[in-house]
Amino acid sequence: MMEAVLWLCWRKSLPCQLRAVTQSRRCLSSYAGPALRASAARSIGTSPLLVSRLFQPSNLREGPELGLESRAGEMTCRSQRLMLQAGLIHPSNPGCYYYLPVAVRAMEKLVRLIDQEMQGIGGQKLDMPSLCAAELWRRSERWDLMGTELFRLKDRHGAEYCLGPTHEEAVTALLASQATLSYRQLPLLLYQVTRKFRDEPKPKFGLLRGREFYMKDMYSFDTSEEAAHLTYQAVCQAYSRLFTRLGLHCVQVQADTGNIGGKLSHEFQLPAEIGEDRLLVCGNCAFSANVETIEPGQTDCPQCHKGTLAESKGIEVGHTFYLGTKYSRIFNATYNNAQNKPVVAEMGCFGLGVTRILAAAIEVLSPEDAIRWPGLLAPYQVCVLTPKRGSKIEELAGVAEELCHSLGESVPRLKGEVVLDDRIQQTIGKRLKDARLLGYPYVIVVGQSAAEEQPRFEVCCQQSGETVFLSREGLIDLLSQVETV
Ligand SMILES: [Zn+2]
Repeated sequence: MMEAVLWLCWRKSLPCQLRAVTQSRRCLSSYAGPALRASAARSIGTSPLLVSRLFQPSNLREGPELGLESRAGEMTCRSQRLMLQAGLIHPSNPGCYYYLPVAVRAMEKLVRLIDQEMQGIGGQKLDMPSLCAAELWRRSERWDLMGTELFRLKDRHGAEYCLGPTHEEAVTALLASQATLSYRQLPLLLYQVTRKFRDEPKPKFGLLRGREFYMKDMYSFDTSEEAAHLTYQAVCQAYSRLFTRLGLHCVQVQADTGNIGGKLSHEFQLPAEIGEDRLLVCGNCAFSANVETIEPGQTDCPQCHKGTLAESKGIEVGHTFYLGTKYSRIFNATYNNAQNKPVVAEMGCFGLGVTRILAAAIEVLSPEDAIRWPGLLAPYQVCVLTPKRGSKIEELAGVAEELCHSLGESVPRLKGEVVLDDRIQQTIGKRLKDARLLGYPYVIVVGQSAAEEQPRFEVCCQQSGETVFLSREGLIDLLSQVETV
């Protein structure tokens, strides 16, 4: 039940307030500052989201060290620092964070992308309880094997549970409870995107190594080892497509099966300096492996026998396992074959660290002082800056607002993707700096040139670092190319 509640909270955690603002109708000629805006936010319509109303704590307090002081001694990294500074996350308990509205938007986009890829290979989404009975974990012998990493608890009747770090036991028990599963229904691919729990000894690096995080975990059931291998490859290909769409260079490496068990395993690693996994990559062929899987001291490639292995570091963002019948045998998860005889199913399991991908992408794509998103995950694609209060072009505020509205109309994909930075008491320079930190792919300044007879808008393209001046038509042309999910 707890899982369901968390899930619902997460799905609905884009504050109603913001939805109301997004939807509020405002007369274009009635630009009258924050007071009127606040009341207008309660009406219904299609006005842009206002930065002044975004719940984003960096707006509320100044200082580059925001939020970091409460975690003295914890190791930090670029993505963690940037996410704290930009008001994406806020620390709570060690290894746990509030995901604030802007971060949740990015995460929802990532989940939509994952849904597309998983459903593209036949995955069906479900949602399993986070409270997992100790009994299931004792049957697989992982209750003891997992040691102190497992969060354990007792209910009022004294029954023991753990907070699920993974769900092989739960999903296999679910399958075993289905007496009528037919070979015609296989392969069966079930997945979920839920909170997972792991009692990390040393949580660090923000969302990269937390104690509570989101994971996509998929479990496959097949009729034979050959079929299971085909499924395994299909999932690996879907993972590769996902990382390509995110613009992330991800390496698929041979991996150890660890305490999950099974016979075949790969990790998807993002090369990064702060990565905690050591990888060996062949200079001659495509071979790459986690160092754990290679004989100590070995430097020549076991695949081509020509190249030498060079070491690099990576952040593990995905992991795939061919499990065989390890769990299905224990739980007696069977299907009926063509002769209507029960046969133990072949299994695989496939994880993606959802919150970890979000942080790792920021880690590898961003410079030291500003967030760079994979384009598809940018929480908002466009930020429009209104002129400063008291400036010579103050009256162009209405133009900025109208522009936000018309961008959503001209480019339907941008509906809900445009924010208006209406903090008119602040200079354009200060707001540009904030916009750069948050990493909106396009920042549009409504300035002096917008007052000319042929109005032109200053457009800062964050990915390329270019600034261009465009007419309204040119702007719409440019933004028509933006991809959203
Ligand atoms: Zn090689």
